[in-house]
Amino acid sequence: MNIHEYQARELFQKFGVATSKGHAASSPEEVHKVAASLGVSQIVVKAQIHAGGRGKGVFKNGFKGGVHVCKTPDEARDLAAKMLGQTLVTPQTGEEGRVVNKLLVAEAVDISRELYFAILFDRETSGPMVIASTEGGVDIESVAHDTPEKILRIAIDPLLGIQGYQTRKIAAALGLRGPLMTQASKLFTSLYRAFIESDCSQVEVNPLVVTPDGRLLALDAKFNFDDNALYRQPAIVAMRDKAEEDPREVAASEYSLNYIGLDGNIACLVNGAGLAMATMDIIQHAGGKPANFLDVGGGATKEQVVAAFKIILSDKAVRGILVNIFGGIMDCDVIAKGIVEAVKEVGLHLPLVVRLEGNNVEAGKKTLAGSGVSIIGATSLAEAADKIVAAVHTK
Ligand code: GDP
Ligand code: MG
Repeated sequence: MNIHEYQARELFQKFGVATSKGHAASSPEEVHKVAASLGVSQIVVKAQIHAGGRGKGVFKNGFKGGVHVCKTPDEARDLAAKMLGQTLVTPQTGEEGRVVNKLLVAEAVDISRELYFAILFDRETSGPMVIASTEGGVDIESVAHDTPEKILRIAIDPLLGIQGYQTRKIAAALGLRGPLMTQASKLFTSLYRAFIESDCSQVEVNPLVVTPDGRLLALDAKFNFDDNALYRQPAIVAMRDKAEEDPREVAASEYSLNYIGLDGNIACLVNGAGLAMATMDIIQHAGGKPANFLDVGGGATKEQVVAAFKIILSDKAVRGILVNIFGGIMDCDVIAKGIVEAVKEVGLHLPLVVRLEGNNVEAGKKTLAGSGVSIIGATSLAEAADKIVAAVHTK
C-alpha cells in the first residue's frame, strides 16, 4: 500500500522527522487560504498522486510540471486552478496518467544541496538497508547505473536498529558536518523508527535538502507499506486512497484474493502462486498475453471464486479465460460451482478453457457439464494454453 506525500508528512510529524511546513488542499480557494496562513515569502504547490517524477510531469491539458514554486497566495491559487481535476502524466504513471484531486501547499525552502536517503528491505542481508547519495533530487536509478560509487549502502541489524556510528557514517558520506551531522543523526534515527513502527517496506526521501541557513529537511517522501502487516496498522489503512489503485485490485482485495492486473487479454484463474506464474508463462509461450495474475489460494470459498470470476468478466480488455486448477487442498467442485454461479449472475460471452485436475475433480467436471455453461475442456496445461490462445485469435 502507498500513501500521498501530505500523509507522509503526517508520519514525519508523528516521528519527529524535520520537514518544511505545509498542508493539503483540494480547491483553488483552499490553496489560497493555506498559502496565506503559512506566512512565507515562497510557496511550493505540489500535485498529490501516488507516483514520483511529478516535477518533470506534464498535464494532459498541456500545463507543464506537477511541482511549482511561487511567491503569493494569489499565484498559488492560479496554479491550483490549472492543476486540480487535471490528469498528470509523469515518467512513473504510464501514459494514462493520474487525476490530481489534492495539492500540497508548503513553504518553499531555499536549497543549497539536494541529497537522497532511503530505507528498504534487502534480500541479500535479509534486513533493513539504508541507501544514501549526495546526488539527490534526480532519478536515483540513473545515478546507480552511471555512477554506482556515489551510492552508499549500509545494512542495519534488525535486532539492534540503526546505531549512532552508522548515522554518523552516513552523514559524513553525505558531507554533513558539525550541527548538520547532529540534525542528520536525529533525522535518520527518527525515519528508521517510522519505517519499523509503521511496517514499511520502503521509505524514500528525495530530495533531502540542506538549506542556506543550515537546516536539514525531508522535502519529498514516498512510503510503501507491507500489505501483510496492515491488520495491525489501522492508522495507515485509514490513509488508503482507493482512487489511486487499480479498481480490479481494489475489488480483489475486498475478497482477499491475490490479484494483480496486467495489460494482456487472456484472464487466468489459478490456485497457487507458483502455478499462476507458470500459467502466465505458458500463455505467453503459446503466443498470448495474460490479463492478470490471480491466485485464489488453496482454501478458496465459492464466494471468493464468484468474486474472482466477476472481476475477470468486468475487465473490458479480457477476450478469453483460462481456468487452471490443480486441486491438492482445493476442492475442484468449489471452483466449478463458483464459475457456474458467476456466469449465471453476469453472463459469459467469452471463450472459457477449463483444466481441472486433482481433489474431487469428477464432481467438478459433473457440475460444469450439467450447468449449460459453454466450456472448452483441456487435460494438460500446454493444451489448455494453446486452446485459449487459438480461441482468442479466431474470435
Ligand atoms: P517529484 O518530482 O515527484 O519527485 O517531486 P519532488 O517533491 O521531489 O519535487 C521535485 C523538485 O521540485 C525537487 O527535486 C526540488 O528541486 C523542487 N522542490 C520541491 N520542493 C521545493 C522547495 O521547497 N523549494 C525549492 N526551491 N524547490 C523545491
Ligand atoms: Mg522527488
